[in-house]
Amino acid sequence: MTIHYSKAHFLLSVANLTQLPPDNGIEIAFVGRSNAGKSSVLNRLTQQKHLARVSTTPGRTQLINYFVIDETRRLVDLPGYGYAKVPPKIKQDWTKLLDQYFQTRQSLKGLIVVMDIRHPLREGDQQILNWCHQCNLPVHILLNKADKLSNGEIKQTLQTVKNALGAYANPISCQSFSAAKGKGVEELHKTLDAWYTAN
Ligand code: GDP
Repeated sequence: MTIHYSKAHFLLSVANLTQLPPDNGIEIAFVGRSNAGKSSVLNRLTQQKHLARVSTTPGRTQLINYFVIDETRRLVDLPGYGYAKVPPKIKQDWTKLLDQYFQTRQSLKGLIVVMDIRHPLREGDQQILNWCHQCNLPVHILLNKADKLSNGEIKQTLQTVKNALGAYANPISCQSFSAAKGKGVEELHKTLDAWYTAN
C-alpha cells in the first residue's frame, strides 16, 4: 500500500506525556540536535513548506508536536536538544520526557534521528541512541545537509558512522540526506514504509 506522507496534517502539541493521543496505531518520531534540520526534513518528507516550524525559540520549554498521516499513522516531532544556553531545569525536563516516552509508548515503532553530516554522533545524539538501545527501538539516522560535503566526504562519513553503530544491538541504520536539495527521500520512504506497515 502507498502511504501518503504529503497528507500529513497537524493534530496537537503536548507539553507532557499525560496529554498524548491514544496509544494505538503506529507512530514514528523525529528527533535531533537543534539546527540539524529536523523541521526541514519533516517539511521535505511531507512536501509541505510549513508543516514543522523551522527554528523555534531556543531554551524555552518545548512541545511534542503530533501530525496525522492517516487513521493509523502519525509523525511525531520531538523537542530538539543541544541548545547552547539551556537552563539545567529545562535539560532535566527534556531528559525525563524523552526517556519516559521511549520507554512507555507502545505505538512508537521507530525513531528518525537527524544529525548534521558535518557533526555526527554528538553528545545528545549518543544519549538518544543509548536509550533506544536499552528499549530495543529501531533507529534510522539521517545525516542531513549532505549538500555541504563532496561525494567522497559523504562516503567517508557514512562509513565512520556505520562503524560506530556496530556498538548498538537494536536495529539501526543510516543514510545521507539533504532536506535542502531533496536528496535521499526515497531511501527515507523505504524505512518509514517498512515501519508503518509492519505488524
Ligand atoms: P531544526 O532546528 O533541527 O528543526 O532545524 P531547521 O529545519 O530549523 O534547520 C536549521 C537550519 O539549517 C535552517 O537555516 C535550514 O534552512 C538549514 N538546513 C536544513 N536542512 C538543510 C540541508 O539539507 N542543507 C542545508 N544546506 N541547510 C539545511
